[in-house]
Amino acid sequence: MANDHPVVVENFETETRFSGSELLTSHDIRSGISTLIGTTDDPWGLIAAYDTNPQTFTEEDVTFVQSVATILADAIERNQYQNDLEQLVADLEESNERLEQFAYAASHDLQEPLRMVSSYLQLIERRYGDELDEDGEEFLEFAVDGADRMRSMIDGLLQYSRVETQGSEFEPVDLENVLDDVREDLRMKIEESDAKITAESLPRVTGDEEQLRQVFQNLLSNAIKYSGEGPPKVHISAGRNGTDWTVSVSDNGIGIDPKDQDRIFEVFEGLHAADDYTGTGIGLAVCERIIERHGGEIWVESEPGEGSTFSVTLPAVTDRFEEYAVE
Ligand code: ADP
Repeated sequence: MANDHPVVVENFETETRFSGSELLTSHDIRSGISTLIGTTDDPWGLIAAYDTNPQTFTEEDVTFVQSVATILADAIERNQYQNDLEQLVADLEESNERLEQFAYAASHDLQEPLRMVSSYLQLIERRYGDELDEDGEEFLEFAVDGADRMRSMIDGLLQYSRVETQGSEFEPVDLENVLDDVREDLRMKIEESDAKITAESLPRVTGDEEQLRQVFQNLLSNAIKYSGEGPPKVHISAGRNGTDWTVSVSDNGIGIDPKDQDRIFEVFEGLHAADDYTGTGIGLAVCERIIERHGGEIWVESEPGEGSTFSVTLPAVTDRFEEYAVE
C-alpha cells in the first residue's frame, strides 16, 4: 500500500507476498483488490472488493476500485474543508460581534469623561477668561478644539458600531424622498457654498431608510466639502442592472489620488489636513458598512483635480414588496 499501488490478490492460498489476515480468512475470502483512500502521506483508510472464489481481475476492475477510492477521498476532503470553513465563519462572526461590542462600549463609556473635560473647559473660559493672557486663551482654544474633535470621533464610532445592531428592517425606500430630506438637512451648506445639485429621477430600493439617508448625506456633504475653488456641482444618477440599482454621486471637486482610493473607506482615514477641511474620517467607513449591510458595494472613481464619482449598488424593490407598495 505504501507504494501507492492497488494490491491485487488472485488467490490468497497461493499468495506469497504476505499471509492472509485473520479478518479475510475468517470470511472465506480468496481474492480481492485493495486500494488506499487518500494519499500515502495522508491516508483516510482502505477500500477493497473481495470474492470468496479465486479471481483473475482485469485492468478495468482495478481502475474501478481505484475510481471509487478517489471519489471517496474527494468527498471526505470536501467535507473536511467545508467543516473547516464553517468553523472559520463561526469564529469570525464571534470575533466580529466582540469587536462591535467593544467599539460600542468603548465609545459609549468615553462620552462621560469627555463631557466632563468639555464642561470644565467651558467653566474655566467663563470664570477665568478675562484673566488669561493671549497664550492662555490660545491654549484653551486648542483644548476646546481637541475635545470637540474627540466628540465627533466618538459619535462616529458609535454610529459605525451601531450599523449592524441598531438597523431597522428593510422595506421599500423611495430614494427621491431620501434625497429631498438630505437636501433639506444640508440646506445651510448648500446655500453657503452656492452648490448646484442636479439629479436624475431616482428609483425605489429595498433598504433601511434612515441608514440610506445617512449614506447620501455623507456622500453629498463630502461632494460639497471637497469641492476645491469654485461652487460645487453635484450630479446624482441612477442605472438599473439586473436586480440592483447603481446610484452615483458625482462632483467637480478636488478628486482623490488613485493610491488613496481604498484607504478613504477605512475608519479615521481622512486625507486632507485638518486645517483645510474638518472631518473625522469616519463618514465613508459608515457608508461602506451600511451598503454592505444591504448586500451592495460602494466604490469611487476619481482623477485628482477632475472630481470624484462615488457609486453604490442597492437591491431593487422585489415583487414581494411591490404587492404591498402604496403609490
Ligand atoms: P471626512 O470627510 O470626515 O474626513 P470621510 O470618511 O467622509 O471622512 O472621507 C474620508 C476622506 O475621503 C476625506 O478626508 C477626503 O480626503 C476623501 N473624500 C471623501 N469624499 C470626497 C470627495 N467627494 N472628493 C474628494 N475627496 C473626498
